[in-house]
Amino acid sequence: MAEFTMELNDEQKEVRDWLHGFAADVIRPAAAEWDEREETPWPIIQEAAKLGIYSLDFYAQQFFDPTGLGIVMATEEIFWGDAGIGLSIMGTGLAAVGVLANGTEEQIGTWIPQMYGDVNDVKVAAFCSSEPDAGSDVAAMRTRAVYDEAKDEWVLNGTKTWATNGGIANVHVVVAVVDPELGSKGHASFIVPPNTPGLSQGQKFKKHGIRASHTAEVVLEDVRVPGHCLLGGKEKLDERLARARERAKTGGERVKNAAMATFEASRPAVGAMAVGTARAAYEEALEYAKTRTQFGRPIIDNQGVAFQLADMRTQIDAARLLVWRASWMASTGKKFESAEGSMSKLYASEVAKKVTAQAVQILGGNGFTREYPVERMHRDAAIYTIFEGTSEIQRLVIARTLSGMPIR
Ligand SMILES: Cc1cc2nc3c(=O)[nH]c(=O)nc-3n(C[C@H](O)[C@H](O)[C@H](O)COP(=O)(O)OP(=O)(O)OC[C@H]3O[C@@H](n4cnc5c(N)ncnc54)[C@H](O)[C@@H]3O)c2cc1C
Repeated sequence: MAEFTMELNDEQKEVRDWLHGFAADVIRPAAAEWDEREETPWPIIQEAAKLGIYSLDFYAQQFFDPTGLGIVMATEEIFWGDAGIGLSIMGTGLAAVGVLANGTEEQIGTWIPQMYGDVNDVKVAAFCSSEPDAGSDVAAMRTRAVYDEAKDEWVLNGTKTWATNGGIANVHVVVAVVDPELGSKGHASFIVPPNTPGLSQGQKFKKHGIRASHTAEVVLEDVRVPGHCLLGGKEKLDERLARARERAKTGGERVKNAAMATFEASRPAVGAMAVGTARAAYEEALEYAKTRTQFGRPIIDNQGVAFQLADMRTQIDAARLLVWRASWMASTGKKFESAEGSMSKLYASEVAKKVTAQAVQILGGNGFTREYPVERMHRDAAIYTIFEGTSEIQRLVIARTLSGMPIR
């Protein structure tokens, strides 16, 4: 088991510098344009694929890095470049985690490569859990999956919302209800293969931030998928449901929920996205404060500005430490006894919101315009306290874990 270290090894440093170069030379210069266009930046994804940055191999290498730092380091660098383009590049990874967390080896080997496509024909993937009436309250999910035993097919019906890459994805991972009596314990995840009839894109959302990332409703009308598209397989599902029914009758060992397994594994990575955006805004503010002169001296010469920058940097470093700890714990199989994954996401996302707002303030009028990137970074940062569980839900998870009580 890898010891926890705060120092990247030589290979990790090399990867970080390489990614930073891509983020600085390719992503950042394109960020304003794709933010305005509010479209998936396919040419940038293609460029990333050519360099091997957008690929299953690269993602797997970082995700399975035994120190746990690979994936969060890579995510921070890409999001330092830009959050909207960053999510277009890393969003497929969030769907892949849904398969890694619940799928069999065969399913992982079959579907994850199709999520990425290849250099000449890049693809993206979507993870569809949220619904119009089931956001934080995942148990309220209504999308139904019914097994057609005669054909060994599952039939999916329902409407998913807020899906990153929803409708434009090659592979959709859809969470659905298989046993409505069991609440969130009666959910299962399904692969919807490319071009499956019945799956269509609903409304595409016009957003406040991360506008280069595509977010849309996904409508499922009698979508038939083969039995082998149930992640984990039917036998495992039947065993899990039987245990959940038993527990519902008698009370006993807890049963893992499919969507929750994805969120647990992806929370430190979302924290790393927030750290990337916060660091980018802080660096812009620092440079500006050193060069902007008022009252005959650089504005950083005022403690009111300098102390803000000191706090911003301290909080960013603290956020990164929480993210690295959680990612190390996840990759070395340590149990999140105190909801450390949620802690990392909660803290880093709140820091990103605060730091980007301070950066706008430090840039004054310029900070309020689209001529300077902090305006976009501030809009982008607002997503981190919302998706993959809002800050309130993270606090709920942490408080319940610490107290062992069903806090509402
Ligand atoms: C840009 C974007 C991309 C997304 N990508 C995906 C994706 O790829 N796949 C996917 O499945 N989903 C995705 N989501 C959905 C996201 O995870 C949800 O928006 C989020 O979980 C919150 O759900 P909601 O929007 O329904 O808010 P609600 O659950 O309605 O919450 C509204 C407010 O009430 C608060 N609240 C709710 N319950 C409680 C409580 N018990 N205690 C205290 N406060 C509470 C919330 O914290 C929030 O402030 C995305 C969302 C956005 C905006």
